[in-house]
Amino acid sequence: MIDFARKSLLDNPYLPQQCRIVASTPQTDDTMLFRVRLEDDRLAESFSHMPGQFVQVTVMGSGECPISIASSPTRHGFIDLCIRKAGRVTDAFHNLGQNALFGLRGPYGNGYPVEVMEGNSLLIVAGGIGMAPLRSLLWYALDHRSRFKDVILMYGARDQEDFLFKGELLSLQGRDDVKTLLVVEKDPDNSWEGDVGFVTELFDDVDLDPETTYAAICGPPVMYKNVIDKLLDCGFSKGRILMSLERKMKCGIGKCMHCSVGFKYTCIDGPIFTYWDAINMREII
Ligand SMILES: Cc1cc2nc3c(=O)[nH]c(=O)nc-3n(C[C@H](O)[C@H](O)[C@H](O)COP(=O)(O)OP(=O)(O)OC[C@H]3O[C@@H](n4cnc5c(N)ncnc54)[C@H](O)[C@@H]3O)c2cc1C
Repeated sequence: MIDFARKSLLDNPYLPQQCRIVASTPQTDDTMLFRVRLEDDRLAESFSHMPGQFVQVTVMGSGECPISIASSPTRHGFIDLCIRKAGRVTDAFHNLGQNALFGLRGPYGNGYPVEVMEGNSLLIVAGGIGMAPLRSLLWYALDHRSRFKDVILMYGARDQEDFLFKGELLSLQGRDDVKTLLVVEKDPDNSWEGDVGFVTELFDDVDLDPETTYAAICGPPVMYKNVIDKLLDCGFSKGRILMSLERKMKCGIGKCMHCSVGFKYTCIDGPIFTYWDAINMREII
């Protein structure tokens, strides 16, 4: 028998589903990694997404905001959200506490074109909280390791206090199937054992084949410019550079026009764009 009440709820694209915080791991002073699970077990088990997609998170009484899915679709039953306190909704989310319920709808956006990228090498370049969506892509590639040639991660943080997923990323340095290059901008007390400087300096430590590599970038605006310059110098074509671009999004489904740029909606045509797409939408950068 069809459960009409449930069907009509699922048919309403604006209706958030109930979701529960099952674990939270502090990352920095203002950023927490939340592991969440949809309350409806059938929805929790059937939830699927592409790396690079996002969800809309609702905190009752505070509002809704877009957050990238930080877990890989290869891991089922839960969703990881890495949330930095930035204002009303994100602050309220941090205050919810363990086991609290909140609303979640999605996944939305195009995600990375992983089927096109497979068979190639993958270079991931992340800065700061930009590691959140790229963590999903990283683990997708590591869980499907045979589908990719080289996998290279470059991650830069301001300092050790600002370093996200620290234990997890440091432990990758012990694996020989992923080249993990981690850097901090500042190390005032000389306690960081790795490189100190900007993420762009890590390009000196790798041999990249621009013909067979896709580069995925996410980080602060200044990082995009410098990393893209490096990639173009290395000979990357604009179509092999993938950027995650954030715009204030409201509906997430291409209706409200809050995130429109030219003829594109960043919520459905993005947030992942090739550099080629981005330079043809001047307003977006
Ligand atoms: C596709 C996409 C994916 C994203 N993924 C993530 C993610 O994985 N993790 C994450 O942490 N964020 C992510 N973001 C960003 C996140 O959506 C925003 O930080 C969030 O919308 C902020 O909402 P808020 O209600 O908490 O902040 P708001 O209250 O809306 O504040 C937003 C901005 O306004 C400023 N502001 C707030 N109050 C004031 C004030 N009184 N005076 C002056 N300025 C003020 C804040 O400093 C902040 O910069 C993503 C955004 C997009 C578009």
